[in-house]
Amino acid sequence: MERPPRHRHGPSGRWRAVALAILLSETAADTLSLISVSDEIAMGRQAQQQVRKTVPVLADAEVTAYVTRVGKRLAARAPGPRYPYSFSVANHRELNAFALPGGPVWVHRGILHAAANESQMAGVLGHEIAHIAQRHAADQITKQLVANGFLGLLGAVLGNDPGGARTAQIGAQVLAGGYMLKFSRDDEREADRIGLQIVQRAGWDPRGIADFMDVLRREQGRDPGSVEVFLSSHPAPAERAVVLRKLIGSRSGGTRDSAGFRHAKARVLRLPPAPRMKR
Ligand SMILES: [Zn+2]
Repeated sequence: MERPPRHRHGPSGRWRAVALAILLSETAADTLSLISVSDEIAMGRQAQQQVRKTVPVLADAEVTAYVTRVGKRLAARAPGPRYPYSFSVANHRELNAFALPGGPVWVHRGILHAAANESQMAGVLGHEIAHIAQRHAADQITKQLVANGFLGLLGAVLGNDPGGARTAQIGAQVLAGGYMLKFSRDDEREADRIGLQIVQRAGWDPRGIADFMDVLRREQGRDPGSVEVFLSSHPAPAERAVVLRKLIGSRSGGTRDSAGFRHAKARVLRLPPAPRMKR
């Protein structure tokens, strides 16, 4: 990883950094983000370019259009800023999905293989959309910048960076260590809770995501390698299923499946086997 450029402070820059340090220590909890929505979108665009260079995109326009349709319907019900949400399918067999800052959502083809119905896939997408809507990437990047002593750089960003180009550059450096940001356990719980709301508002059965936790557990027993990455970045599926089912309570109703899902699933099952992720 490239080292960030050293930044020289004049007296005003130094004071700005000190003021920032005080501000950060006072609001350290989790609400503070020094990254604006437009910076976040710029970072996401850069990260998306990197991901497209390394992740094989599924070459099936019909399946991609279907996933995008479901994703957009969910994103329209997301709280928070109106991010330019986009949806891509990676041609990987592992069960995984991830969100980049400010809009891009990726789902692995393996999710379509494993999901039993549309509400399960919608639950996975809803969780990723919730990470974006709740600005978890901006929070994590802020925390990482602080932890790495990049306060001076951040001060420079706040001081004069009208276009957000500098922030995007710094964010890209943070993301360069791995395009999948590690979210906190609190972020994951929030994404489950908000994701559930999004799914319900958009008209799908919220029980889908809880059921998908059972699918993950089954896959863990059958082919541990296929869920390794996913499980390393999320709380245990059994634990999540319990919390999700508590939140859902006795509520039911909403779409469980569709001809569109069955058609897309049948298509991916007919394709040549998906390659494994490179480590
Ligand atoms: Zn998550």
